[in-house]
Amino acid sequence: MTATAPITQDVLTLPRKPPQDGKMNLVGLTRPALQEALVAAGTPERQGKMRMNQVWQWIYQKGVRDFDLMTNLAKPYRTLLAENFVVEVPEIVSKQVSDDGTRKYLVRIAGGHEVETVYIPEEDRGTLCVSSQVGCTLSCSFCHTGTQKLVRNLTPGEIVGQILLARDDLGEWPEPGRNPKDETRLLSNIVLMGMGEPLYNFEAVRDAMKIAMDPEGISLSRRRITLSTSGVVPEIARTAEEIGCMLAISFHATTDEVRDRLVPINKKWNIAELLDSLRAYPKLSNSERITFEYVMLQGVNDSDEDARRLIKLIEGIPAKINLIPFNEWPGAPYKRSSNNRIRAFADIIYKAGYASPIRTPRGEDIMAACGQLKSASERARNARRAEKPAAE
Ligand code: SAH
Ligand code: SF4
Repeated sequence: MTATAPITQDVLTLPRKPPQDGKMNLVGLTRPALQEALVAAGTPERQGKMRMNQVWQWIYQKGVRDFDLMTNLAKPYRTLLAENFVVEVPEIVSKQVSDDGTRKYLVRIAGGHEVETVYIPEEDRGTLCVSSQVGCTLSCSFCHTGTQKLVRNLTPGEIVGQILLARDDLGEWPEPGRNPKDETRLLSNIVLMGMGEPLYNFEAVRDAMKIAMDPEGISLSRRRITLSTSGVVPEIARTAEEIGCMLAISFHATTDEVRDRLVPINKKWNIAELLDSLRAYPKLSNSERITFEYVMLQGVNDSDEDARRLIKLIEGIPAKINLIPFNEWPGAPYKRSSNNRIRAFADIIYKAGYASPIRTPRGEDIMAACGQLKSASERARNARRAEKPAAE
């Protein structure tokens, strides 16, 4: 990693560009924006709210994309909608299924860019790992995504679209006439832990998560959504105030010297500033603990001393420490700590009174595990330079 790697945001979400046929995509619009769009297209003002509710339910509760199937709308109105709008989700370019059932989707968004979305089935839940940017402006030295330059931010429609397309693939839309609440939820949790730094695309992530939480639709509880940030301190309080979801912090080191190397945003907001922002976090409580993610890198951040320093640092913050065995990728400059080392580290933290689960790597055989995501085009380009290990 170069010391000059960018540590601040340098692009904004691309404005929603009307597609070539001029039809606006309704996916990703907030409720007021959807209502406004329907009225602008000719829906009588006094019917605006009712029509918005109807269309909303078709899209997010029933998974319908074709206006013709929106049977509680009069035929001429369906035609009006079809003339002005589309209900579009990003396209799945390829799907890989791991031996452990993890599914990785390569998803194409407008402009031909690609992101990855990962579905992780577990016994009592199914978690969708959603991307918020193509690439990342940050360049954490252990993260595969970080070796890919930021191409652009995703729009709210592209973020919520990942949820819709996963539900399509899982066959999770309710049968016509059945109450959606009776359905088993295959997709029960969302983690914003895919490609990108969600707090550098705050508004789009917020609007998409509001849609995911809306009770008349995907209807996921805010406690089932976790946003992971590398530590964009000025945006942390807003996460509680404007989204209200759970928070995870990519902590990964116990001294500024090491964290500067692993998570370069630390040079902008160091450990003390990050912890201050967490102590002031509006939603902090024992029932809503902050998750500290800690990647276990052999000989870098995994000593007993690190474990003890970590406990000291987070004192007073209701927290859970999620230990992530490092997932290797081609050319990665680190090694995974041994299982014994990880267990010893976990034990020290556990004895200090914190939950310290060790995350089981999922989907490693298809490069779907944490930090391995990178779009295929980038991967292919890098494979061509494969002779140069850890070149970036
Ligand atoms: N940009 C956000 C969210 C995406 S990364 C963030 O950094 O928090 C999701 C988690 O995976 C982060 O904790 C990240 O530090 C971790 N991660 C990245 N690369 C990894 C790797 N190679 N092995 C294990 N975890 C990794
Ligand atoms: Fe970006 Fe997160 Fe990877 Fe760091 S760990 S480069 S912030 S995606």
